[in-house]
Amino acid sequence: MNIHKFEVIVVGAGGAGLMAALYASRNADTAVISKLYPTRSHTGAAQGGVGAALGNTEEDYPEWHTYDTVKGSDYLGDQEEIEFMCSEAVSTVYELEHMGLPFSRTPEGKIAQRPFGGHTNNKTGKPVRRACYAADRTGHMILQTLYQQCIKNNVNFYDEFQVIDLITVNGAAAGVVAVELLTGELHIFHAKSVIFATGGHGRIWEITSNAYAYSGDGVAITLRRGIPAEDMEFFQFHPTGIYRLGILITEGVRGEGGVLLNDKGERFMEQYAPTVKDLASRDVISRAMYLEMQAGRGIGGKRYMHLDVRPETVNKYAASDGRKRPDGSPYVVTAEEILSKLPDIVDFCRTYLGVDPVTQPMPVQPTAHYAMGGIPTNKFGEVVIDEKNTTMPGLFAAGEVACVSVHGANRLGTNSLLDILVFGKYSGMKAAEFAKGVDFLSLPSDATDFARAQIDELLSSSGDERPEELGNKMKSVMNDHVGVFRTEEGMTKAVEAIRELKARFKNIRVEDKGKIFNTDLLTAWELGNLLDLAEVTAAAALARKESRGAHAREDYPKRDDKNWMKHSFAWLSEDKIELRYKPVVITRFEPKERVY
Ligand SMILES: Cc1cc2nc3c(=O)[nH]c(=O)nc-3n(C[C@H](O)[C@H](O)[C@H](O)COP(=O)(O)OP(=O)(O)OC[C@H]3O[C@@H](n4cnc5c(N)ncnc54)[C@H](O)[C@@H]3O)c2cc1C
Repeated sequence: MNIHKFEVIVVGAGGAGLMAALYASRNADTAVISKLYPTRSHTGAAQGGVGAALGNTEEDYPEWHTYDTVKGSDYLGDQEEIEFMCSEAVSTVYELEHMGLPFSRTPEGKIAQRPFGGHTNNKTGKPVRRACYAADRTGHMILQTLYQQCIKNNVNFYDEFQVIDLITVNGAAAGVVAVELLTGELHIFHAKSVIFATGGHGRIWEITSNAYAYSGDGVAITLRRGIPAEDMEFFQFHPTGIYRLGILITEGVRGEGGVLLNDKGERFMEQYAPTVKDLASRDVISRAMYLEMQAGRGIGGKRYMHLDVRPETVNKYAASDGRKRPDGSPYVVTAEEILSKLPDIVDFCRTYLGVDPVTQPMPVQPTAHYAMGGIPTNKFGEVVIDEKNTTMPGLFAAGEVACVSVHGANRLGTNSLLDILVFGKYSGMKAAEFAKGVDFLSLPSDATDFARAQIDELLSSSGDERPEELGNKMKSVMNDHVGVFRTEEGMTKAVEAIRELKARFKNIRVEDKGKIFNTDLLTAWELGNLLDLAEVTAAAALARKESRGAHAREDYPKRDDKNWMKHSFAWLSEDKIELRYKPVVITRFEPKERVY
């Protein structure tokens, strides 16, 4: 048996995992395990920016950032944790600058900032420039910068190892079991602290901006070990995915002045959010698009809208909005400027659509984008295992896989890159501190049994169910019934359909029975994870009889603070899902109606 021993094991090499590893490695012997080569993590796809109230080009404060995040979360975010994240934001962004992250700059050489949805000047209610960016490659730059820092700090890396189980001893974490992709061998990573930083699960849906790797491994593994998942009913649909492909067009396009238009050429967001218009929060815009399409105002009657960032359009609406540059001059853009601020977007559209955004509008539709829910944690990344905030010794989670909860029912753009940095950092520090205070637990003799059983079951199945077919069915069911708008009837159907797919999954056929790079096997294992998370998502959504943030029900269109101002905790067992609830932490901001 291959056994490795480290004080801290980080599962995942995205922004959260690398930041955690960097901090843990300053104090403890640390290794990172990643199924992907680190710089291929989804963080590298993030385009628009990281939120911090630096106030570089106009008045802004962490307090405003806090309020906007609370409001954006539709009051479901825990306010103490939000305040913590927003006040840590400023020093964290400067820390990355000092590590060498090549941010875009203002003419005076400060970090450049642009407006993003839901971020406002709290006095005027108008958009504020809070997103710090490196062109439209912000996540790529974060990932490269942190990876270099980890290498410099001698963090150990196990690339292309896929973790499939968590080892626990007497209710405490003691390590993980992973498959080495090259050989198919199982490895034990014995640890004092384990940090899950495995990213999201947007591959449950058909139209998604998420990478293929977003199969929810972390949440699925912990669910199988009796740890609940929090707020799984809340999943964000980003308004601007490329029509049919789902590939993301950053909100930064609207930050630079782009507008959404319907078939009549109307800027419909003026009706739905008169103050911030195209920069309302994502749930609000996705719903508006859906309603426009329902009313037959999709482009050519189809299910997409136009996102228009042609200079003449931007300049026309900037003039009618009275938008100004930081120096007070009128906001007027040129094609060159669009190209220099959004080079990747222009490139994507030219490559995938044959559309040139500088001269043509882009066809867009809402795309599954971000998991607000996940493994429950507190603000130090310690995993919480029940509604009474009991923590599990030695277990931590950070990044999109975790639910702190700072995003509540709807995340604001730029707040995820911030989340992965801030909570990556604190989970790394806490995990190292915890490891220094305890001894290694003795490994149980059956440490690999559960992992081996899962693999053997998939390899030995003689059934004839095709993974692609089950996966496609799951994705269309979830898109149709647990998407932007939801109903009792649709979600009931979804729960039943997913349970049926889970039963069929037992007869799945894995063609490749070999050991070397058996992606067939691991993709099938990942499908099992997605099915589990789809079931939990649909069941938690069905139970929540109100509309809040990303969870919009046609049959319960109002937010219901009296009955539903609470987080859901879901436990999954073979034949049922148990739901319990925990109150939201409210400190300064009493719930109000959200008006944009
Ligand atoms: C297209 C796109 C654009 C975005 N743009 C922005 C933006 O502009 N601003 C913003 O704030 N947010 C943005 N987001 C959201 C944000 O980028 C992500 O939420 C965030 O980067 C997630 O970081 P992470 O470290 O949690 O996960 P990731 O970066 O996805 O890393 C996950 C890691 O876990 C590893 N892993 C997963 N499962 C296993 C396993 N079983 N075993 C071993 N390793 C495993 C993977 O190899 C990977 O290294 C965007 C998201 C997308 C999809």
